[in-house]
Amino acid sequence: MAREQRSTSVVVIGGGPGGYAAAFAAADLGLEVTLVDDAPNPGGVCLYRGCIPSKALLNVAHVLDQARQAADWGVTFSEPKVDLERLRTWKDEVVQKMTEGLGDLSKKRGITFVQGRATFAGPKRVTVSAESGDELELSFEHAILATGSQPVRIPALSIDSSRVMDSTDALRLEDIPGSLLVVGGGYIGLELATVYHALGTQVSVVELTSELLPGADRDLVRPLAAKVKRVLHAVHLKTQVLSLEERGEQILARLKGEDGEEREESFDRVLVAVGRRPNSANLGLETTKVEVTERGFVRVDSQRRTAEPTIFAIGDVAGEPMLAHKASHEGRVAAEVISGRRVAFEPQAIPAVVFTDPEVAWCGLTEAAAKEQGRQVKVVRFPWGASGRAATLGRSDGVTKLIVDPESEQVLGVGICGPGAGELIAEGVLAVEMAALASDVMLSIHPHPTLSETIMEAAESVYGSSTHFYRK
Ligand code: FAD
Ligand code: NAD
Repeated sequence: MAREQRSTSVVVIGGGPGGYAAAFAAADLGLEVTLVDDAPNPGGVCLYRGCIPSKALLNVAHVLDQARQAADWGVTFSEPKVDLERLRTWKDEVVQKMTEGLGDLSKKRGITFVQGRATFAGPKRVTVSAESGDELELSFEHAILATGSQPVRIPALSIDSSRVMDSTDALRLEDIPGSLLVVGGGYIGLELATVYHALGTQVSVVELTSELLPGADRDLVRPLAAKVKRVLHAVHLKTQVLSLEERGEQILARLKGEDGEEREESFDRVLVAVGRRPNSANLGLETTKVEVTERGFVRVDSQRRTAEPTIFAIGDVAGEPMLAHKASHEGRVAAEVISGRRVAFEPQAIPAVVFTDPEVAWCGLTEAAAKEQGRQVKVVRFPWGASGRAATLGRSDGVTKLIVDPESEQVLGVGICGPGAGELIAEGVLAVEMAALASDVMLSIHPHPTLSETIMEAAESVYGSSTHFYRK
C-alpha cells in the first residue's frame, strides 16, 4: 500500500455533470485542478447509470412505437426482433464514448484526474483511497463537493433478490421480463416503464400518491396519464407496496389500495424508483464546518458556499431539483466564485423534462406554485389538436401553455406535453430568463410547420385570438 502527499489549488470531489463542469470551468479560468471520482473517467450517475443510458434506451422505445404506429398510416412492419445483447452493447458504447471523451477533455485541460474515494480530513485536506489500497493525502485551497445522490431504499422492499432492481440494475437490461412491477410513478418509474413496455414487457405501475409525476401541473400530465393507462398493464394510484417476497422465479408483491383492501400479485421483476437521496454521509464532513439539512442535503448559499469557507457544494448533494443541467450550472458558478468573480446561482427557470411518450416539460413558475403563492396569473393553453405539425406526426394529444403576469404580460412559466417537449422547452427557458412579454413571443416569427408554433400561438391567445384555435 503506497501513501503519497500532494497539494492542489482546487479539488473537485465527484465527476458527474456538476463535478466535471466545475473542474473544466476552473481549469479554463487558469486554476490548478484535481478531479476525484471512483470511476475510471468523469461522467457520474448521469453518464454511467442515468440520463445517457436511459435516453439511449428511450430512443429505441420511440423507434419501436413509431414502427407500430405506422400501421395507422398504411405502413406495416413485421414484429420487431430485439437482439438484447446488441442493444446492451450499443447502449454501453454510447456511455463509453461519452465518458472517454470527458476523460480526454479533462486531460487536454491539464486537470489531474484521481480515481478513488475522497474523505475530508479537515477544512483543507482530503484523503483519497484507491481500490488498490493506495492513499493520497491532498491538501487544497478550495474544494467543490459534487458527490451526487443514490436511490432511496425502502426497508420493507429491500429484499436480497436480483429480481428486485433499482434504476442502475434496470438500465443493465439483463433480460426482457414477461412482467414488471414499477414502484413509483415519478421520472424514473415512468421513463423505464416506457422502455420496458416498448420492449414487450407487461408493466404495472404503483404510485403512493393520487397522481403520476406529483410535482408537475395536472393539465400537462393528463395526456401522458391517459396514454400510460391505455398501454400499460395497470396503473395503481394511492397504492402502497407492503412487502416483496421471492417465490421461485417470481416476486410476490403485497399491495394495499385506496380502499384498504390488501391483495397479492406476482411479477418476474420489480423496479423500485421512489426518489433519490444525497450522498453526504461518510465523507468526513464532521471534520469541517459544513452543515447538512435534515434530508441530508449540504447547506449552501447563492454562491454555493457551505458554512466552511474553503468548501463549496453543487449538484444533487446540494439540493433539489436533482437534475444534471442544474448541477452543471452550479458547478460553473462555484468555479467562477473561487476564481474571484462576483456571480451567483440565481436561475429564473430550471427546465424539467420527463422523457416519456408524450414528453412532459416545464420551466419557471408552474400553475400549482402560483396557486400556492396566491399569485394572480393568466394561463393560456394551445391544444395540439390545432397544430398542423402535430397532425402530420399523428400526435394531436399534446398541449402547450404559458403562465403570464396579467398586468405586465411577462412570461413567468411555460409547460408543454407532447413528443419533442424536451427540445421545445428551451424556448420557454429563454423567454422566462429574458423576461420576455407574451407579445415578444407572439411577434417572433416561428417556422411552419413546426411544434414550436404552439408556443407562438399560445402567446397569441393571451391577446384573445390565435390563428388556428378559434375561441368565441
Ligand atoms: P452525480 O452524477 O451523482 O455524480 C457524483 C459522482 O461522485 C459519482 O460518480 C459518484 O460515484 C462520485 N462520488 C460520490 N462520493 C464520492 C467520494 N467520496 N469520492 C469520490 N467520488 C465520489 N437528470 C437530467 O437532468 N436529465 C435526465 O434525463 C436524467 N435522467 C436520469 C435517469 C436516471 C435513471 C437517473 C438515476 C438520474 C437521472 N437524472 C437526469 C438525474 C441526474 O443523473 C443527476 O441529477 C446528476 O447526475 C447529478 O449530477 P451530480 O454531478 O450532482 O452527481
Ligand atoms: P421521483 O421523486 O421523480 O418519483 C418518485 C415517485 O415515487 C413519486 O411519485 C412518489 O410519490 C413515489 N413514491 C414514493 N414512495 C413510494 C412508495 N413507497 N410506493 C409507491 N410510490 C412511492 O423520483 P425518481 O423517479 O426515483 O427519480 C429521482 C430523481 O432523479 C428525480 O426526482 C429527478 O430529479 C431525477 N431524474 C430526472 C430525470 C429527467 O430529468 N428526465 C429522469 C430520471 C431521474
